[in-house]
Amino acid sequence: MNTYNHNFSEFVLDLPREVDREVAGDIEKESVFVSPFIERIHVSEDGKTARVVVRPGADLDETKEKTERFLAVMVRQITGFEIKVFVETKRKDTGPYQIGVNDELVKRGWMHDYGKGQVAYSGPVLKLAKLINDKAGELYKDAFAAKESHFPAMIDADTLHKCGYFDSHPNAVTFVGNVIEDFDAIEEFRRANSCSEGALMPQQDHIHIDGMCLNPAACFPCYPTLTGQSFDEGQCFTWLGRVFRYESRNINGLDRLYEFNVRELVFVGDEDYVRSVRAKALPVVEQLAAFMDIDCQVQTATDPFFATVSAAKKFWQASQEVKNEIKIPALGNDGSVKQLACGSINLHGNFFGKRFGFTCKNGEPAQTGCVGLGIERWVLAAFTQHGFDESRWPEAVRNIIFA
Ligand code: ATP
Ligand code: ZN
Ligand code: MG
Repeated sequence: MNTYNHNFSEFVLDLPREVDREVAGDIEKESVFVSPFIERIHVSEDGKTARVVVRPGADLDETKEKTERFLAVMVRQITGFEIKVFVETKRKDTGPYQIGVNDELVKRGWMHDYGKGQVAYSGPVLKLAKLINDKAGELYKDAFAAKESHFPAMIDADTLHKCGYFDSHPNAVTFVGNVIEDFDAIEEFRRANSCSEGALMPQQDHIHIDGMCLNPAACFPCYPTLTGQSFDEGQCFTWLGRVFRYESRNINGLDRLYEFNVRELVFVGDEDYVRSVRAKALPVVEQLAAFMDIDCQVQTATDPFFATVSAAKKFWQASQEVKNEIKIPALGNDGSVKQLACGSINLHGNFFGKRFGFTCKNGEPAQTGCVGLGIERWVLAAFTQHGFDESRWPEAVRNIIFA
């Protein structure tokens, strides 16, 4: 679909409060979820105004009013929390960062971009993705005796609801739809498609959505399997999860996909256990970054929550320091350095233990935490930092991925 059209119009609004670059970035990213008529919102350099690009056919008053409500909740975010850095690695490779990695991977035939936030890959990209996944799995096994697991890609809406996902990220959910179990409706759908040029979807009232969703966070499907169990000793689980997030028009190469892979580690036990695993996870990330020979930092962070709950939830997250993020420098499409979030290390308190009914010592609801590594972002970051000259890659990695 070609969304560019010369009939786009624009208006500029004063922001209710001057914002810093962090909030400006959030406003721009979340702006794709404000209205089907809004192409994008750009915040001015000085953080004082918002330029709203509107698609043809919009009711301007209504669009303005909706934008004002969106901006009012977004500017409420408090930023400027001190960012603490827990891990910092520096690469030995002295070559420049490679620009245009996504395009080059496609050109070399190592990646196919379907254009809707999904990619296929093979050759060195596949080998690298596998290597990162295997290496992380190995490190987790050695450090935490993590039990290797597997979970489905679809998840029940009731589980997502219990995990609080509809409350925090309602915009990112994907529901699975089916044709209703009706002979005529099915036949109508079959006939319509048997001779059509492109795919025709069933009419709205012939589709039912009965609560299956595509899993939007790697760790969720683990929790229902823990119900009724007691974790006196503390236990770690690890697996490669397939994750789906509706990112709308923000999709962009390996950096922001609709469907991606996450090497997940979940730890369950009492508070001491969970905190000790989180502390030990930091040197593990450091080892992985050193193995890949990449610049990397682990630092305090917050989640990109949906607009209306963002301010409150972010404040809570930042003040409790429950989320750390693995930031790896890469290049944006314009060549400027940007920090890619390549993984997060999270503490959940006893939230999941309570909701799903599993306990630790003394019969108390267990605490949990997780580490999720975004495999495709690590791949993008590694190709950005080492480029396409094989000799720049660390030997142990080069021997595997370019073999
Ligand atoms: P962002 O702020 O970039 O949207 P996030 O805070 O939503 O990231 P998490 O919820 O912490 O990300 O997910 C764990 C990891 O999964 C991220 O650190 C990242 O590496 C990866 N990830 C998240 N969203 C995407 C995406 N759309 N495409 C590819 N990888 C992703
Ligand atoms: Zn998780
Ligand atoms: Mg996100």
